[in-house]
Amino acid sequence: MTEPKRGIVLGGGWAGMLAAHVLARHLESVTVVERDVLPDGPRHRKGSPQARHVHVLWSSGARIVDALLPGTIDRLLGAGARRVGFHEDLVTLTSHGWQHRFPPRQYAIMCTRPFLDWIVRDQILAAGRISVRSRAEILDLAGDGKRVAGVRVRDMDTGALETLEADLVVDASGRGSRLRHWLSSLELPPVEEDIVDAGIAYATRVFRAPPGATAGFPAINVAADHRVREPGRFGVVYPQEDGTWMVTLSCTRGAGLPTHDDDFLPYAQTLRHPLVADLITLAEPLTSVAVSRVGANRRLYPERLDTWPEGLLVLGDALAAFNPIYGHGMSAAARSAAALDAELGRSGYDPARTRRMQQAVSAVVDDPWIMAASKDVEYVNCRTDVTDPRLTGGVVARQRFSDLISDRAIRASAVCDVVTDVISLTAPQSELASSRFLSLMQQDRPLPELTAPPLRPDELALVDLNPRSTVAGRLS
Ligand SMILES: Cc1cc2nc3c(=O)[nH]c(=O)nc-3n(C[C@H](O)[C@H](O)[C@H](O)COP(=O)(O)OP(=O)(O)OC[C@H]3O[C@@H](n4cnc5c(N)ncnc54)[C@H](O)[C@@H]3O)c2cc1C
Repeated sequence: MTEPKRGIVLGGGWAGMLAAHVLARHLESVTVVERDVLPDGPRHRKGSPQARHVHVLWSSGARIVDALLPGTIDRLLGAGARRVGFHEDLVTLTSHGWQHRFPPRQYAIMCTRPFLDWIVRDQILAAGRISVRSRAEILDLAGDGKRVAGVRVRDMDTGALETLEADLVVDASGRGSRLRHWLSSLELPPVEEDIVDAGIAYATRVFRAPPGATAGFPAINVAADHRVREPGRFGVVYPQEDGTWMVTLSCTRGAGLPTHDDDFLPYAQTLRHPLVADLITLAEPLTSVAVSRVGANRRLYPERLDTWPEGLLVLGDALAAFNPIYGHGMSAAARSAAALDAELGRSGYDPARTRRMQQAVSAVVDDPWIMAASKDVEYVNCRTDVTDPRLTGGVVARQRFSDLISDRAIRASAVCDVVTDVISLTAPQSELASSRFLSLMQQDRPLPELTAPPLRPDELALVDLNPRSTVAGRLS
């Protein structure tokens, strides 16, 4: 008779919940260990401070969530989340100019993060196959360098220490994961780590949008131009499920950041176009400024270790975390969960195949990693500590090619389609080097350059926008 297989997931955030759902499809029992009490509603919690800032779930991630949890995306949309078609429903000033609003190829789900987490968590926990051990702090792993056998935790209310035994432990404890430390306690060699840190920081406020604007007005994005050799400033106005606009202003290292309410609008006025600032003046502020300075790209390479213990996996931000501006973290974690599901679906859980499973889970974070890291190394003041050869050689040539593509994608629809597939993580990054794409770059006829934000009359009728926002602005 085979022993029951017990899975433990470290961390009950986005990646941890998806991983727990996958484990529950293949193992007999699954426990999520989490420091917080996970709220039974769309509420903030201490262990998810990033939830105060804009989050988009790209279509690739949304499709995985819906495949794992059928009906989830309809539930989100039915409760007010917005499905923003790229680029029909988005007015965006890219580094290369205003993007034409081509018919949507991909989409992003826009809503507050507590709302998204709550709906997804509710879908996952409704089946009753997963138990959550709240108010439990993970201390370290139990077992040895050959085999992880569980996790040691501390009950945060009583202080009691306990070892929870498991056949498979999945680390999904986020950017702050102590995995490298835990592995060294098991006397394993250090896992290699790459860091590309452009010093990204976010400042966010929530505003009551003008009536009808969260449904009828496009999402707005004003980006920095990385080719100007100075720190970059960005701003977005994204519709949320509850009739609000979430406005996030962000920057790379050295561009400052508004940390007080009174500085928020003046900072928005320094962006490359006044559109974000003018929308802010139309809306009623509902929150004070929330700040986050957690935006470095950081990736571990567990798959490179010669010896990897049986019974241990890592995914989500604990494995690879990205500059949030690209909106890839949740979709990357969903890809890893799907890869784990596929591996477990092949022949069930076999501890001897743990290393193979980790390789599969790690492989799918490579595209978001290289997309974010290779762009960020271009920003002035970016700090790097990397082993990835793609980030240390040929950067200038690659950036020149990427600029060429970006310049074409804002004006040529077929090129834009492929680029949107890639940035939404729907198509592999290698698509941009394919002969099909290279001939599209030659053949696709670009539309004329846009000199002002492409807002339609019906959209303008919803907001009383300052006329200067509808004409050409300062673009550099
Ligand atoms: C400002 C900002 C904006 C972002 N915007 C986007 C976006 O638009 N789109 C997108 O896809 N991604 C975005 N991201 C990334 C996204 O938030 C993460 O990729 C995602 O939340 C990762 O989920 P996770 O479960 O791996 O980690 P987390 O969400 O950090 O969850 C980790 C969990 O582990 C728990 N935990 C940690 N340590 C312990 C311990 N010792 N004991 C017990 N429990 C512990 C924590 O309480 C937490 O619940 C953004 C990130 C930031 C910082």
